[in-house]
Amino acid sequence: MDYKIKFFSSDKKPIVVVVGCLHGDELVGKKIIFRLRKIKLKKGTLITIIANEKAVKQRKRFIDQDLNRSFPGKRNGNYEEILAYNILKITKKADFVLDIHSATTDVKDLAIITKTKKAVLNFVYAINPRRIALMKKDIAGKSLIGYCKTAVSLEYGKDNSRATYKNTFSSIISFLEKEKMIDAKNKKREQRKIDFYEIKGVAKKEKNDVLKKNIKNFKLIKKGEIFAIRNNKGMVSKENFYPILFGEEAYGDIFGFKATKE
Ligand SMILES: [Zn+2]
Repeated sequence: MDYKIKFFSSDKKPIVVVVGCLHGDELVGKKIIFRLRKIKLKKGTLITIIANEKAVKQRKRFIDQDLNRSFPGKRNGNYEEILAYNILKITKKADFVLDIHSATTDVKDLAIITKTKKAVLNFVYAINPRRIALMKKDIAGKSLIGYCKTAVSLEYGKDNSRATYKNTFSSIISFLEKEKMIDAKNKKREQRKIDFYEIKGVAKKEKNDVLKKNIKNFKLIKKGEIFAIRNNKGMVSKENFYPILFGEEAYGDIFGFKATKE
């Protein structure tokens, strides 16, 4: 992996798409988008999409099926399949796509990418997250970013947390500044030390399995360690791995993702 952080500022006028509320119960994206809409750009185009407005209104994650498991979508499908089809028409033309989420777990300041080509790495470094996780397409499945050229998903923390809102917003601003789409108002933002993870698979969960309380996201689970309880018996890990998005309430049949760290 090429770790050198090289900021670029393209001479052309980039098209940036910010997507929020792919999940209707994650409102932080909507708040950020309303704030972004007030920004005056020096160059380029900023398109903002509140993806699943109907689900937002109904305070639901989705109407028919998870929108972020519905790409590339269908012209004549169910509600989310049609939405996915129409959203992809816009994001396909974008140079950069930023997809805002929130989590129900202790996950913080995590950016997810599905490719390691240079443009994607430059993009994610410019966003300046604390952690990056590579989730290749075989695991990312039918998610939006898997179908975009240069895209990042942001999972910065709990939905109603002030820190999630603040840090997600400032990451997006950091990118817009580096692309010279807006003036850098504040003193130079410090480049954070970034931890890089690669998601290798999922940890499957059955209905009554319970995660052990001491399991924390990004904290190594060692081979032989008991990480959950199934039918009153400890579930022993067969390998060393870093848990990512473990305990996410929206995931019915998995505990979360298993990753290695570079
Ligand atoms: Zn989400």
